[in-house]
Amino acid sequence: MGVIPNKDNADQLSVLFIGAHPDDADIQFGGTAIKYLELGHTVNYLSMTNGDAGHQSQGGGALAQRRRNESQAVAEFLGINYFVLDNHDGELQATVENRRKVIQIIREVKADLVITHRPNDYHADHRQTSLLVQDAAYLICVPNVVPFTPRLESNPVIVYHQDRFKKPYPFVPEIIVDVTNENDKKMQALGFHESQVYEWLPFIEGYLPDVPEQADERLKWLSAKWSSFFEANALLKEAKMIATPESLSGFQYIEAFERCEYGGKLTHDNVKTLFPFGIINF
Ligand SMILES: [Zn+2]
Repeated sequence: MGVIPNKDNADQLSVLFIGAHPDDADIQFGGTAIKYLELGHTVNYLSMTNGDAGHQSQGGGALAQRRRNESQAVAEFLGINYFVLDNHDGELQATVENRRKVIQIIREVKADLVITHRPNDYHADHRQTSLLVQDAAYLICVPNVVPFTPRLESNPVIVYHQDRFKKPYPFVPEIIVDVTNENDKKMQALGFHESQVYEWLPFIEGYLPDVPEQADERLKWLSAKWSSFFEANALLKEAKMIATPESLSGFQYIEAFERCEYGGKLTHDNVKTLFPFGIINF
C-alpha cells in the first residue's frame, strides 16, 4: 500500500484505475491519467495481483518484488499512487475477501471515478477484477460492510477501458479522449515495466529477437509497437461510432471508455466534470 492521498479541495477529482496486473493501467489509461494529473486531479492505480506469473524465466516472490518496484518507478515518474495487492497472478478470484479490499481502497482514496476491465476479456484475472469492481459498486455506500473504513456517501462512477473483444457485444466508445499529446509520456511510463514490455510480452508473443538492447532505441521501439494499439482510426473503425468523424480529426491516439451500469451514473449532467476533456458519444 502507498500513501493515501488527501484531496486538497472539493473540485479535485480522485480517479482510480483497478486492473488485474501491474502494467494494465499504464497500457489502457496512461494518456488519460496524464490529462487528469495536468488538471491537478489525483490519480491512483491498483493492481489486484502482484504479477508473479508474468515472466519466462523468473517467478515467485522475486518477480513480484521486481514488478512492484517497476510500478513504484511509474508512480514516482507520474506523481501517482500505485497499489499492488499480494494476490498470485493467474489465480485471482472474485472472493469476498478480495471484494472487501476493493471496497476499502475505493473508500480510502474517496474515488469519484473508477476505471476497470470489461467483464468479457481474454484474461481470467481481468474478468475477475471486473466482477470484483461490479460486486463492490453498491456496497461502497453500505456502512456495515467493511465497517472500519467509513462508507462513501455517493457511489463513484465506474467505466470500462477500451478493448477489442466482440462477444457478447463489442466495446462502445462512449467517452473518447484524445491522448496524442500525452503519448510520449505514456510510453515512457510504460517503459518502466521492463520485465513485461522488453522481456515477457515479447517472449510470449514471439518477437523477443526484435527487442533492441540499447536503452534509447528500446523506448523508440516500444513506442512504435504500443502506440499502434491506440491509433484512433483503427480503434474507432472496430467500434460503433455516433460522433461525427470531424469532431475526431487530428486525434492520432485515443483512449476510450464505456459506462458500467453499476455504481454512480455517468450522465450528461456530470460527464463534463468527470471527463473534462473527452468527446461524449452517448
Ligand atoms: Zn492484465
